[in-house]
Amino acid sequence: MKDCIFCKIVSGEIPSKKVYEDDKVFAFEDISPEAPVHVLIIPKKHIASINELSDEDKDLIGHIFLVSQKLAKEYNIEDSGYRIINNCGEDAGQTVKHVHFHLLGGRQLNWPPG
Ligand code: 5GP
Ligand code: ZN
Repeated sequence: MKDCIFCKIVSGEIPSKKVYEDDKVFAFEDISPEAPVHVLIIPKKHIASINELSDEDKDLIGHIFLVSQKLAKEYNIEDSGYRIINNCGEDAGQTVKHVHFHLLGGRQLNWPPG
């Protein structure tokens, strides 16, 4: 989608530190990491937020979690623990309107989040 920074990251128009890619999913390091491991996993397809998901996206979202699991293993946080976060909408602090899942780990994460 035009004017979407994450669509531009997928297309390569905006550079990123890519850590995974397949035909449906793209993952890259967050530009402003909140933990030693902070990766964003996104669908290549533009979906603005979880509110816009439909039945046809079921496999895609499941696939994103399996990619997250694979990345957690690669970053060696599989056993220490990690968090997969989606922020949806203003109160949750969603700043980029293209669905993304944060994979965070490598330090003790506080709960509840702020
Ligand atoms: P949100 O607050 O929407 O859940 O998360 C958006 C995330 O995208 C933030 O953690 C922010 O640091 C990251 N981000 C925003 N713009 C860019 C960018 O151009 N490149 C990368 N790698 N990350 C970005
Ligand atoms: Zn997009």
